[in-house]
Amino acid sequence: MKTIGLIGGMSYESSIHYYERINNGVNAICGGLNCAKMIIYNVNFEDIRKLMLNNEWDKIGVELASIAKTLENAGADYIVIATNTMHKLANYIESKINIPLIHIADCVADKCKENEVLNVGLLGTGYTMREDFLKDRLKQNGLTVSIPNSENEINEIDRIIFDELCKGEINDSSRDYYIEVINNMKKQSNIKGVILGCTEIEMLISQKDLDIPVFDTTQSHIDSIIDYSLEKKLLLKR
Ligand code: GLU
Repeated sequence: MKTIGLIGGMSYESSIHYYERINNGVNAICGGLNCAKMIIYNVNFEDIRKLMLNNEWDKIGVELASIAKTLENAGADYIVIATNTMHKLANYIESKINIPLIHIADCVADKCKENEVLNVGLLGTGYTMREDFLKDRLKQNGLTVSIPNSENEINEIDRIIFDELCKGEINDSSRDYYIEVINNMKKQSNIKGVILGCTEIEMLISQKDLDIPVFDTTQSHIDSIIDYSLEKKLLLKR
């Protein structure tokens, strides 16, 4: 079994799901008392969020790369970052370590392709929707990616993530809003599926809320992490 190095805490509401489901998944396959070999470094998200709001991404990069190196030195065989947004820094972090980083976008793109859904809408933080770091990686995997059309929608989707979901707050009105935005994307961009491109959105929206396939980055990432841990997938350093 390979050892996972997990960078968590962004937010801890979603990292809890990683910890629980990775262990459950390994146990379901291996039985007995088996669980995952995992080293978790939980950051204080308040500190990171302040740097985000000050646009000090270089400082976040240095911090996360140093954490990844610490996990490598502690015996991790590969690194996973339990948030989509911090994949803005994935290439930089990966360049500073000698072990592979399992990219969340590759994991969810594999699920889309398995289900033959190539034209997808993407919901996530403002960074994830507006910037190219995640969209480009999805496109490299053969997907066509749309985001909500209006700035108001992007701002409100982002606000709900940081003001509610990252604090464990689940509101029906926010669920209705997300569904409305996805339905707008269906009409405007003819999307055939939607990627929940933020690790907290699955707490609000699930397949039962929608009539198009839903691809959750959290669960897709977790499924791949389990496969790499149990050596069903080969770890390759890029
Ligand atoms: N967990 C979120 C994501 O998947 C947002 C928190 C963050 O900014 O890292 O993007």
